[in-house]
Amino acid sequence: MNTISSLTLVLTDKCNFSCPYCPQRRGENILQIEEITAFLDFLKLRLAKEVWLGFYGGEPLLCWPLIEKTVAHADRNFKKKFRFSLTTNGSLLKKEHILFFKKHRFELVLSYDGPAQASRDTSSINAVEEALENLQHLYPEGYTVNSVFTPATVSLLSASIENLVALGHRHLQYSLDLSVPWQDPDLKVLEKELHRLANRCLELQNKTGKIPLENFEDAGQKGIFACFAGHDRLALLPDRTVWGCYLFYDLLGQHPEHPDFKKYCFGKLPAFIGAGNKNRALVANYSDLRQDYFFTVKEELCGLCDQLKSCRVCPAIAALATAQLGVIPDWTCRIKKINAKCKPLFAGVH
Ligand code: SF4
Ligand code: SF4
Repeated sequence: MNTISSLTLVLTDKCNFSCPYCPQRRGENILQIEEITAFLDFLKLRLAKEVWLGFYGGEPLLCWPLIEKTVAHADRNFKKKFRFSLTTNGSLLKKEHILFFKKHRFELVLSYDGPAQASRDTSSINAVEEALENLQHLYPEGYTVNSVFTPATVSLLSASIENLVALGHRHLQYSLDLSVPWQDPDLKVLEKELHRLANRCLELQNKTGKIPLENFEDAGQKGIFACFAGHDRLALLPDRTVWGCYLFYDLLGQHPEHPDFKKYCFGKLPAFIGAGNKNRALVANYSDLRQDYFFTVKEELCGLCDQLKSCRVCPAIAALATAQLGVIPDWTCRIKKINAKCKPLFAGVH
């Protein structure tokens, strides 16, 4: 079996937000600490020298005691093997949490959509902005702000990033909601926004030095992209199922009757632990998820595309729209081509 370098614990499917672009189904499930420790202990011999252990939800801060107990178990039994990360909407993030995260060197991702935040949860804006201020004072090196844009909010992209830069946040990234259709006018706005963003980044860089936008940084990617779900990573979901990546649960978790469910789900935790090395057969099912094997809905083979080596499409997110793994929506392909066209504009941005 392969070595595991990334584990995700989806602590709960409960959330205090209802973001329009979130693919997760809400529920009332919460993992138990005994399940988390059994999962980690079972995998102990397969873990790489350093492993990212990510806390995810729903909203993981709804399960604060579970985070403390998991970190205590990791400290006691895994001797600094784990680097922790946590993704949060920020609304429940208090100073005491931040100090705990700093002590344990967490990398935090705070999801905040700037001017588009009102379309997520208007009443939470003050709490999230207070959390951002606290992070900036208490743990400035330890967090990234991720902003998500949809066709309805993409016109706010450049202004939003510019505002976050002006506020002094050190690590920024943006994501696009690719699970919904992007029409021609939306794609035109996106391209215009990327031009505007590149110009503003270069202007600001001349004034302030480094620009903290990470989207167009060279990730050191070499060769053709492949999804590593199941190979170097696993996820434990709040309904106690185990998957190669939590996004496969978002895609298939509610459809146990779908033929792909059995192909990609390792089963409930006791079955996963009981299967031991027999899980290897299921890992093999994840092996075909390579960019050069993917098709667009127009039946263009990615393997023949000029952008093949620079293009990275998450097959699970693509399949949220096309309902078929390995098939990419037309708008995703067009967005990847726009990104490739605009990337040189950001060449001078560091
Ligand atoms: S490409 Fe997507 S499904 Fe595969 S590991 Fe990355 S995020 Fe998960
Ligand atoms: S740009 Fe489109 S066709 Fe080319 S590799 Fe990416 S998704 Fe495939």
